[in-house]
Amino acid sequence: ARQPSFTYEALPMRVIFGAGTLAQLPQEAERLGLRRLLVLSTPEQEALAEHAATLLEDASVGRFTEARMHVPADVAAAARKAAREAGADGCLAIGGGSTIGLGKVIALETGLPVISVPTTYAGSEMTPIWGLTDNGRKRTGRDRSVLPRSVVYDPELTLRLPVDMSVTSGFNAIAHAVEALYAPDASPIISLMAEEGVRSLATALPTIAKAPLGLEARSDALRGAWLCGACLGATTMSLHHRLCHILGGTFDLPHAPTHTVLLPYVAAFNLPAAPTTERALSRALTTDDVPKHLARTSVELGAPRSLAELGLTEHDVTEIATQAVAQPYANPRPVTADAVRSLVTDALHGTLAP
Ligand code: NAD
Repeated sequence: ARQPSFTYEALPMRVIFGAGTLAQLPQEAERLGLRRLLVLSTPEQEALAEHAATLLEDASVGRFTEARMHVPADVAAAARKAAREAGADGCLAIGGGSTIGLGKVIALETGLPVISVPTTYAGSEMTPIWGLTDNGRKRTGRDRSVLPRSVVYDPELTLRLPVDMSVTSGFNAIAHAVEALYAPDASPIISLMAEEGVRSLATALPTIAKAPLGLEARSDALRGAWLCGACLGATTMSLHHRLCHILGGTFDLPHAPTHTVLLPYVAAFNLPAAPTTERALSRALTTDDVPKHLARTSVELGAPRSLAELGLTEHDVTEIATQAVAQPYANPRPVTADAVRSLVTDALHGTLAP
């Protein structure tokens, strides 16, 4: 067999993991020399932001609780203004990918350091990828300056993540690992993390669906999300993430449910050309039919079965195909407009779902 050759570069990330670790925030801030943190959250997680601010005592100078999906430019500008007016020397981003994304854009534009406390499985805290939406167009880029200085993973904060969101957020994480396994810049260490990340999430999600307050499964899922997020941060994503970007950006489909519905169809398309990835996923999911298994388990756990359920129509398919082939990117199989049309049409109708 061909001997592997690869480049691997570790990202400088400090991770604190464990139930109750939110209580370590003050020490973490002190360690980083941060004395005036602005706490960021969505309106829905305002109470959690207040709790974090209380824990930080004098090391918190206020809260900005208007974070929203895909970081709208006006929200980023308002947050920057709040940070300036409060004299903040850093931000604490506590919440899902939307809040952590806001912290990243503030870091990009002002250089303020960020501590992140993730409460979903999206994985943004492990990546140098930022996103900003202006006039309905989402721009993304990679910049190491947006990496959090410190990430606190406290599974207790995920106990009340609703089951439907836990499931789709978990599959969002699994999608990062799938594409990291066949990435052009894959490496043995990332492949280990990807396989273990998929295994942790695939084992934990059914338990969470039955008993959402179980700390052990929540802890396993969050550990899986950490691993999958690190895979996303270390590799170049392919067709799946490209299609999800189009479906979210142009058609406004919801982020995590879109990842969940689409993944089995991209897997069905790509895995025949990526045998090592298929073997790793078969081991992690204990199945011979990875695409079918992904579709079946997500639907059994309550996820949507088709892109039609998320609001996509037959009419949209051609535009998606056009955008998907507009720029070249690495993928195990060549991406043609015909292939995309067929794949998206199957996902539109949910042909792999039970
Ligand atoms: P989200 O952050 O938009 O959260 C959805 C809702 O759930 C929000 O109202 C939030 O406050 C609430 N919520 C979050 N955690 C909760 C909890 N534990 N309990 C109860 N409610 C909770 O959703 P998301 O899927 O985490 O993030 C999606 C966004 O992140 C998208 O914009 C996506 O593009 C981005 N993202 C970026 C990267 C990256 O590397 N840059 C990676 C993944 C996702």
